[in-house]
Amino acid sequence: MSLRISRKPKLEKGERFDLVIVGGGPAGLSAAVYVARFLLKSVVVTIDVGGQLNWTEWIDDYPGFSKIKASELTSKFREHAEGSGVRVVTGFEVVDIKKEGEEFRIISSGGNEIFAKAVILAVGSRRRKLGVPGEDRFQGRGVSYCSICDGPLYRGKRAVAVVGGGDAALEGAILLSGYVGKVYLIHRRDSFRAKPLLVEDAKSRENVEFVLNSVVTEILGEDEVKAVKVRGPKGEATLEVDGVFVEIGQEPPVELFRRTGLETDEQGYVKVGEWMETNIPGIFAAGDATSLWRGFRQVVTAAAMGSVAAYSAYQYLLEKGLIGGKR
Ligand code: NAP
Repeated sequence: MSLRISRKPKLEKGERFDLVIVGGGPAGLSAAVYVARFLLKSVVVTIDVGGQLNWTEWIDDYPGFSKIKASELTSKFREHAEGSGVRVVTGFEVVDIKKEGEEFRIISSGGNEIFAKAVILAVGSRRRKLGVPGEDRFQGRGVSYCSICDGPLYRGKRAVAVVGGGDAALEGAILLSGYVGKVYLIHRRDSFRAKPLLVEDAKSRENVEFVLNSVVTEILGEDEVKAVKVRGPKGEATLEVDGVFVEIGQEPPVELFRRTGLETDEQGYVKVGEWMETNIPGIFAAGDATSLWRGFRQVVTAAAMGSVAAYSAYQYLLEKGLIGGKR
């Protein structure tokens, strides 16, 4: 790790930028690399770096790396952005963006605010919740949203439940089958969104039991999770488990989009044109938070969107005379 990364970059309250990039996943960090080339005074503000890379273990489909740890790829992205001269400020959660004349005021949950002539929103999406009794109460005490991050903590336990039928759930069930005595894979249908290879792999494991056409109705326990109630074709059953891994996908942070006045599609993703422009001139969006290529979320597609958004933001600033000679 380089010295650049270990140093905590500062952000002055009221600081002004040509461009602010919100979000430190592949889309935001890729945008940062490009805006540095356009010599824009820019910063990446983000809760955390990595985005979806934090929820996966290995990446084997990003060009140039036949197989790389997701955490290592994140470090490389960050190093590249910071090495290009763009600050990456973590712990900054944007809650509102207000247009004021030719500028945007970007407000954080901690009460900080900074200003930009253009904004790239690359805020990704957050983990979807089941919304059942016990879920919030036991979060961090047996309820987890990341098998890859928390799975090793369950080594030697009797049983866990994994909920979902996508890649994340199947990957989680496979991983956990190596740590615990039994894995219940609970899915609301009997067919899967997950890659067939993952489904076959999970099915081949003796200690993975598929509980299909079934939904979790409650998570039970005392100090920690002890069981999960499931409603299926044969009625309601209680499965004794030490953990519940909720792997049911993501959803975009719609409140921020609504507050900012951004147009979204029916599922709450920001509508963008082919140059990543939103309905608000000067705000561009990239990555998983957008409506583009919704069925195909990849690191490479997020990075591509980030680079296009950076180019478009630069063109916007030039055309508006907000940078360069006309400034
Ligand atoms: P996903 O593909 O959206 O799958 C979500 C799953 O959860 C679906 O099976 C869905 O059921 C179920 N679900 C959604 N809401 C639910 C609810 N309220 N109650 C019960 N079940 C619910 O999400 P993901 O698995 O997190 O993957 C997200 C993206 O990351 C995908 O593009 C995936 O390919 C990618 N990813 C890839 C890898 C890999 O390649 N190794 C690993 C992880 C993630 P239905 O099917 O019935 O809708």
